[in-house]
Amino acid sequence: MKYGKFAHVVDRLKEPQDFRMKSSTTDILSLNDNEVSVELLKVGSIGDRVYDALLSRLISLRIAPGSRIAIDALVREFGVSQTPIRAALIRLESEGLVEKVHNIGFSAAPMPTRLHFENMFDMRLLLEPYMAENAAERSSADMMARLDVYSTAMTELTRSDAKLAYGKFALLDAKFHACIASHSGNELAAEALNRLYAHTHMFRLRYHSQVTEEAIHEHAKIVEALAAGNKAKAREAMVEHISASRARMAPFFQSLD
Ligand SMILES: [Zn+2]
Repeated sequence: MKYGKFAHVVDRLKEPQDFRMKSSTTDILSLNDNEVSVELLKVGSIGDRVYDALLSRLISLRIAPGSRIAIDALVREFGVSQTPIRAALIRLESEGLVEKVHNIGFSAAPMPTRLHFENMFDMRLLLEPYMAENAAERSSADMMARLDVYSTAMTELTRSDAKLAYGKFALLDAKFHACIASHSGNELAAEALNRLYAHTHMFRLRYHSQVTEEAIHEHAKIVEALAAGNKAKAREAMVEHISASRARMAPFFQSLD
């Protein structure tokens, strides 16, 4: 086969009428060809839009925690093939919002209990100040550039009042914290933090909230200490931020019982 796995697509494109009919990204995506669709997702925005739509439903609890997510129904509703939907669900699974059960399929991750949130903040308070201190010692241009990108993006989101803004803020916040963790020099601690999926659980709990300006100021203090390579201040700023975040979240998770 001259074109390997793309042979049948190349054949289709040889037919002038077919080519005209399938010239838009949307139409090509509905060809139901997995490999090609995945490639196209990289340049098209179908995958992002499917992801955003599902993210928004999971945050707003329109897809209730624990409930099944039927791919066939989403295929009909969005008018796309299974591929971008599966890709979005796999991405959401990696972000802790969706679970995949063998032979059953995808479902929305259950809402954690109050105890789970308490334990999560205890873990963060044990791990993150230590990692911030280490990161201050190893402060690099790469880390500072990344933190600047995330901080800037979060600041821009505060100007938006869309419900989705809070979800996006939480994901950026997760990246901000993961970046410091990955520069701590302790991979095990960074992995432990990552596995908490703290941010994704928090934003489902507070989906109706607006992005908070306070977190932006707290992050700025952390960045300042890291840039100065000041270990003690980095630790202190991280303790302050996580404690303040816990206080902001407490009224929400304490009502879970
Ligand atoms: Zn934060």
